[in-house]
Amino acid sequence: MIEKDYIIVGLGIAGISLCEQLSKYNKSFLVIDSGVQGSTANSGGVFNPTVLKRFTAAWNASVFFPFAVKFYTGLSEKLNLKIFTETPILRVFKSVEEQNNWSVASDKNELQQFLSAEFLKNTNPSVDAPFGFGKVLGTAQIQTDILLSEYRNLLLKTNNLLAEVFQYKDVVQKDNGVIYKNISAKKIIFAEGSKVIDNPFFPKQAIIANKGEYIIIKAPDLHLEELLKGPMYIIPMGNNKYKVGATYSRDDYGPNTTEAAKGEILSNLKTFIDCPFEIVGQTAGVRPTTKDHRPLLGSLAENPNLVFFNGLGSRGFLMAPLLSEILFNFLEDEESLPQEMDIQRMVM
Ligand SMILES: Cc1cc2nc3c(=O)[nH]c(=O)nc-3n(C[C@H](O)[C@H](O)[C@H](O)COP(=O)(O)OP(=O)(O)OC[C@H]3O[C@@H](n4cnc5c(N)ncnc54)[C@H](O)[C@@H]3O)c2cc1C
Repeated sequence: MIEKDYIIVGLGIAGISLCEQLSKYNKSFLVIDSGVQGSTANSGGVFNPTVLKRFTAAWNASVFFPFAVKFYTGLSEKLNLKIFTETPILRVFKSVEEQNNWSVASDKNELQQFLSAEFLKNTNPSVDAPFGFGKVLGTAQIQTDILLSEYRNLLLKTNNLLAEVFQYKDVVQKDNGVIYKNISAKKIIFAEGSKVIDNPFFPKQAIIANKGEYIIIKAPDLHLEELLKGPMYIIPMGNNKYKVGATYSRDDYGPNTTEAAKGEILSNLKTFIDCPFEIVGQTAGVRPTTKDHRPLLGSLAENPNLVFFNGLGSRGFLMAPLLSEILFNFLEDEESLPQEMDIQRMVM
């Protein structure tokens, strides 16, 4: 029998953050991940503490933000890779009214560090932005493909990863722990993203799928280095390629891309760029969203050794690092979980 402190199911940003947290305190763990691309792999990789539709801060941004910056900077150093690249977001203004709203917002305490008070004029002939841009500071791009593949390699090298689909029927629960096949552990932590919907121990009503799609375009005349946020994001990928999206579609857990999403993205894109482009790809992923837009941490009374780390919604990169510490303190130091994050709220 292999003995570990924890079994983690899932190696997206939730799983990676947890591995880092457990390693920091010398806890032993084994990750089981299917290798099927989840939300992290299909995301935009945008690290953004603001909500650019309404010019507000994201929930608890001032708490999550510094912790996450430290986390990604440290992880880049540990892996000796550039996985976190500071990149401003330019928010395209639609009108003078939006400029005014931005000015008001940028003066607020919680937003001062993120929304630059200065407006930028558009000098890019391929972008249609007559009212200019507001610049968001502190934002970054996370190279999710590199992060996921390198972290996977690291865990494989140290014998901390089983690349397989987790079989729920093989879980044996004991009073003081769990057994899964030939592995015994104190707890299993499920960090499965939206695939948690297939987990028989999970209360299905706690999650709502929110599918998002991007198209990948090649646009040699666009010359964008910043992230551009108009009706949708344009995210530079290098070599004249850009990710454009994403869409939001409720209650769709399917992995396939759709023509409807492509049409929606294209019609939005044409409202704010004016240059030739070619579509070279399309991706889809499912955000693990909750009704109240808050994370799902902890366990349910009937299965105390089966723990969930889910509900990262559309802000996974901002929240996952600190949430893994909160979950760790709950598991190891019996600190209570904030009620708004506790999965138990979903079954009351
Ligand atoms: C289109 C789109 C764009 C997004 N853009 C952004 C963005 O720009 N910024 C941002 O912060 N957030 C963004 N998000 C949200 C972000 O991607 C998620 O919040 C976050 O990635 C969720 O991470 P996770 O680790 O919980 O899940 P996932 O990344 O889905 O990871 C779960 C892992 O568990 C594995 N797994 C599941 N079940 C099993 C099983 N039974 N056995 C073995 N392995 C299993 C999966 O294969 C996967 O590897 C976006 C999401 C989408 C879909």
